[in-house]
Amino acid sequence: MAVWDDVVGQEKVTDQLSAAARDADAYVTAEAEGKGTAALSGSAMTHAWLFTGPPGSGRSTAARAFAAALQCVSPDRALGGAPGCGFCDGCHTAMVGTHADVEVIRTDLLTIGVKETREQVRRAQMSPAGGRWQVIVMEDADRLTEGAGNVLLKAVEEPAPRTVWLLCAPSTEDVLPTIRSRCRHLALRTPPVDAVADLLMRRDGIEPDMAAYAARVTQGHIGRARRLATDERARRRRAAVLTMPQRVSDVGGALRAAQELIDAAAEDAKEVAEEHDERETEELRTALGASEGSRLPRGTAGAMKELQDKQKRRATRTQRDSLDLALSDLTGFYRDVLARQLGSGVALANEEAAEAVQQLAASSGPEQTLRRIEAVLDCREALDRNVAPLLAVEAMAMTLRAG
Ligand SMILES: [Zn+2]
Repeated sequence: MAVWDDVVGQEKVTDQLSAAARDADAYVTAEAEGKGTAALSGSAMTHAWLFTGPPGSGRSTAARAFAAALQCVSPDRALGGAPGCGFCDGCHTAMVGTHADVEVIRTDLLTIGVKETREQVRRAQMSPAGGRWQVIVMEDADRLTEGAGNVLLKAVEEPAPRTVWLLCAPSTEDVLPTIRSRCRHLALRTPPVDAVADLLMRRDGIEPDMAAYAARVTQGHIGRARRLATDERARRRRAAVLTMPQRVSDVGGALRAAQELIDAAAEDAKEVAEEHDERETEELRTALGASEGSRLPRGTAGAMKELQDKQKRRATRTQRDSLDLALSDLTGFYRDVLARQLGSGVALANEEAAEAVQQLAASSGPEQTLRRIEAVLDCREALDRNVAPLLAVEAMAMTLRAG
């Protein structure tokens, strides 16, 4: 099993990364053998990379596979094998997240701030413990605040000789132009549905029927497909969302449907909070030296406040993600309606809602459907602009009703 196995439908990208890992390996080997410093410039390897691609295309999976290939110490390399065997200690520990020289930064918050970024930059200055590369994978580079972006820029401009930054973002527009221009860019595509189904079976052991269903309805979004295939609740939630187009026929129904979407998102946030908040709070109390049930020691209230702020931001983020999922389900539904109206013979993404799709296709026109799709996209944009969620969703539901 090579490190690239889970990077599905991205042959061009894996070819390029594979070549880079090979040159990176030659560079490390030349230095270790005292043959002087081989030039990195002009080779397929470089210090800063930007992985872009639509949500679910596997940006961070590709970045982590590359990080592993850079740490590959398989003896086959000397025999001309490409680095990234997937078996050796370097590959393996990098893939499972325990390699000392691979740091993966992921956040469940809306933004990555200056303080966290400074810390990563400091870490990036260190020499790799294993003598190969110090790799920092930043999964959500689009969430860097402007200040944090400027901190990162300095590190990317003058990287330590063995440091590699792997930044991931939905598109190049999502990162500061100054950072973008210093990175080598890799664009991932939406992976084909079959490739996603195959991955779910191979990697996650999911039954063929379920894998095919989940890959089809999520249209090549790997993470969502996996969640749908493994989480009964997610399937129920999705089924509920798909009844929305039929329930918005009058104002009361539209408003009720909007409220339901918001409630479901809030419930998701509550569930995540229950999973983490109490434990985090207890851990922090212990760290601050408060015994059970007692008050916090003097001067530590600030730390607790910081944790509570973080938890609040995470709740907001979870709620947003949950709404986002619902909105993509809706878009998918109306796309199917449009496909039927335009008489295209493509298979429906939402086969299980075929009847509802057919009904709406027959009772409305393509212009109406386009307006409805637009309304869903507008809602998502409004949420991005921090419009109050209920207002944004209600406005959408009213447009869905009128078409
Ligand atoms: Zn290896």
